[in-house]
Amino acid sequence: MESEELTAQYATATLHVDLPKVPLEAGAGPENPPCPACSEPLFPWVGMPVGTGIAHRCESCGLGVLVHGEKFRFGSDGAETPYRYDPGTSEDALRELDLGREEDGSIVFDNRASLQGWVTGGAWVGLGTERRYCFTPEAVTRLIAVRDQVVTKVRWRALRGIATMWQSGINMFTFGQNVVLGALGKAHAVEADRPWKRGLDWFISAAVAIPAIIAAVPLELIGILFRRGGAARARIQVL
Ligand SMILES: [Zn+2]
Repeated sequence: MESEELTAQYATATLHVDLPKVPLEAGAGPENPPCPACSEPLFPWVGMPVGTGIAHRCESCGLGVLVHGEKFRFGSDGAETPYRYDPGTSEDALRELDLGREEDGSIVFDNRASLQGWVTGGAWVGLGTERRYCFTPEAVTRLIAVRDQVVTKVRWRALRGIATMWQSGINMFTFGQNVVLGALGKAHAVEADRPWKRGLDWFISAAVAIPAIIAAVPLELIGILFRRGGAARARIQVL
């Protein structure tokens, strides 16, 4: 069933390949493989910190798929084109999702479709990771449906959300990423490539810490108000 759907999407892409503006499905192809959660095509989103790779996202369910170790290249027309890559399967995504499982069965994750992810783009905390996927409530809902599970409630973890909004703001000024939360074990730090940059990153972090927290608190609260919080806890129920 799943492979039939895929074939249909690729067929659509072939039919519409010359059109300048086409539906999402028509964007499917080797360079825009299907989203592991919802099968819509994935598109390049932003470069990852310290040139560590490219982040792609699904414009339907919002799932982020990270390609570590690959950078943008430029085609003959001078336009950026992404490398081909393997976004993995729904099983791969579920395996990683389960790393955030808590004792009561709920799942915690940093929300890619958050206000902070949108405002800070490539500086967003969640891109500093060794994992492959950045989840959203919608992507989690789609993924666990294959296990006959449903999300009954999504709650926002305000303190972590404020902390990640704050760190994302600092990331906009530093060479590396997640310097402070990484040192505290609350995020994965991606260090800058030179020792002098790593030293300077601590100085920059200290310098922008106060203005960043003044901005982070109201911004994250606005995000939560609009159900775009940065850190989520999804309650799961088996059907
Ligand atoms: Zn998707």
